Amino acid sequence: MTETAYDTDNIFAKILRGEIPSQRVYEDEAVVVFMDVMPQGPGHTLVVPKASSRNLLDADPSTFGPLFTVVQKVARAVRKAFDADGVTVMQFNEPASGQTVYHLHVHVIPRFDSIPLKPHTGAMENPEVLARNADKIRAALGS
Ligand code: AMP
Repeated sequence: MTETAYDTDNIFAKILRGEIPSQRVYEDEAVVVFMDVMPQGPGHTLVVPKASSRNLLDADPSTFGPLFTVVQKVARAVRKAFDADGVTVMQFNEPASGQTVYHLHVHVIPRFDSIPLKPHTGAMENPEVLARNADKIRAALGS
């Protein structure tokens, strides 16, 4: 088992610093939420703490309260925005688990009866579709 240090140039750190664009749907003092650009279903969002950690394993426990408060908020909002039957919440730690971006994040994905999650193909979603879905989630968060 090897310990790898947090890389300040990971893609989510760049998004948090505003160096690369994202479709943001929510932000508070501790957390940012934006659309996943390669969604495994419509409305796939990522809830990302501002505090730097590679994943759950090296995170300060004080990160989790604010993070999961927002995960619940966003789960309720995507359920409403997409009239979903359920919501999948996923979180990966290190490559063996499927983690590909090394800044702690939680996936929130609306789910529909009998419709499986799309595999992670690496295909980018049309930015207009992401923008429309982001609008729906913002509206649901605001109501
Ligand atoms: P994980 O496998 O948990 O590390 O997931 C990382 C997620 O980040 C994947 O679902 C990717 O589709 C997503 N992703 C990668 N680059 C970006 C980006 N620039 N903006 C939004 N989502 C991204």
